[in-house]
Amino acid sequence: MASSTDQPFDLAIAGAGIFGLSIAHAAIKAGLNVVVLEAKTVGAGSSGGLLGALMPHMPARWNPKKEFQFQALLKLENHIRKLEAETGLTCGYRRCGRILPLTTADKLEHHLERAEESKLRWHPENTGFSYAVEPSGSRSDWLYAASAPYGIVYETLAARASPRGYLKALRSFVQDNGHLEEGVSVVGFDEDTSEVTLEGRLSAVSAKRLVLSGGFSAFDLIKQFTGESVGRGEKGQALSLEGKGLEDKPAIYCDGLYVVPHEDGTVAIGSTSDRDFQDTAPSSERTTELLQRATAFCPQLQGRAVLTEWAGIRPRCNKRDPLIGKLPGFNKIYAATGGFKISFGIAHLVADCLIAEILGQTPQHPLPETFRPDHHFGRNRLDADSRA
Ligand SMILES: Cc1cc2nc3c(=O)[nH]c(=O)nc-3n(C[C@H](O)[C@H](O)[C@H](O)COP(=O)(O)OP(=O)(O)OC[C@H]3O[C@@H](n4cnc5c(N)ncnc54)[C@H](O)[C@@H]3O)c2cc1C
Repeated sequence: MASSTDQPFDLAIAGAGIFGLSIAHAAIKAGLNVVVLEAKTVGAGSSGGLLGALMPHMPARWNPKKEFQFQALLKLENHIRKLEAETGLTCGYRRCGRILPLTTADKLEHHLERAEESKLRWHPENTGFSYAVEPSGSRSDWLYAASAPYGIVYETLAARASPRGYLKALRSFVQDNGHLEEGVSVVGFDEDTSEVTLEGRLSAVSAKRLVLSGGFSAFDLIKQFTGESVGRGEKGQALSLEGKGLEDKPAIYCDGLYVVPHEDGTVAIGSTSDRDFQDTAPSSERTTELLQRATAFCPQLQGRAVLTEWAGIRPRCNKRDPLIGKLPGFNKIYAATGGFKISFGIAHLVADCLIAEILGQTPQHPLPETFRPDHHFGRNRLDADSRA
């Protein structure tokens, strides 16, 4: 495939998950001629899941990463509405809010502090977002009072989207305005000749720059280029239940578990975390565990049919934060991976930052230093096997 002008593409993107497609969308908007090269199919990686929780970091011990995510969540609704208008497709977005059951006196104390700090960090006077502690027994239709003996937090910044709907809309935009090829793996890039080497097709592609956004597999390519291992995959599992009548409910977060009602009449429940895993398939034990934990605090989930079980491998950097930017020692190869559990809420802003960097422009909101390659490579690096 050549670019539409038979010139090299301005940008080749390896991987069509939420990071790769968001970067393609931003690049096309900036006027670049883009090709997305996907090893399998759009959404074959961890972006093709069920949960779609767009949940803010806690308003406590604030830092540039939390501020970046806050700014991203603020801008996301607008971004999605524009994408929906551009494509005619729905992304299942709704600012649904979130409930957090308070199970101990300590938690109550911490969340009262967070409610105070939210007034400083979330700018409620401008944004209208609130973070309030309610007494035990409130929202008992959606939560057993016994599951929240010290009350509940109800915050209104949290949102949800359909991961598959969002990807479908991005895919449609990229196909209509750029180039997308599935079934081709990027295996190399020569900065001097601009040749992107591929597995799955006979000829190479020519591109001025390459972005590695292959989720957890990107870490292998990054190692191939730089010799450094900066991340790994972590398996997670979720499921969806029949959820008619629950579409307007807030999400619930309790001890690492999310319950997220979606507008298509399903409720997603997730997720598990396994650092060591033998295969990528969902296991029935994990489904049972998720179901038991969710129904233990959410009465309305009892007896509903399981529709889908799904597992994926999240990309996680050894230094925890995402890795966004130029690979050390290279001029034309960039990485965008390691979104771990928050990719969907930040991908659009990460994409703006990366495209601004490529074009030598100032981004809307700068990337936190901890997202930059300097933080992940070189003397700050943790060993590949370290379990930070
Ligand atoms: C159970 C579970 C629940 C989750 N829930 C949420 C949630 O509620 N909210 C949230 O924000 N995040 C959530 N996440 C995390 C989120 O799904 C990931 O962080 C995100 O999908 C990562 O996106 P990505 O684009 O970096 O990678 P991926 O989605 O994994 O995409 C990478 C793509 O690149 C392709 N690829 C790989 N190597 C190559 C190559 N060499 N050449 C070409 N293509 C290649 C792959 O086939 C794949 O399609 C969850 C994850 C799991 C597993």
